[in-house]
Amino acid sequence: MVDPTSDLGEDVSEEDAPRCATCDAAIVDSPHHRVITWIEDGEVRSAHFCDDGCRTDWNG
Ligand SMILES: [Zn+2]
Repeated sequence: MVDPTSDLGEDVSEEDAPRCATCDAAIVDSPHHRVITWIEDGEVRSAHFCDDGCRTDWNG
């Protein structure tokens, strides 16, 4: 649960943190964190990246 009155990422442990889709690093309180979302088979999918470099690599 995220307390809406707290800043996001304050109490995120590595286990709860999203992982970079390219390098699989746990993304904890990263200022360069990137998230993209898209629709696939009628579902919203998302991918997290630790920075723009990983996001670009993932796109190919
Ligand atoms: Zn990465």
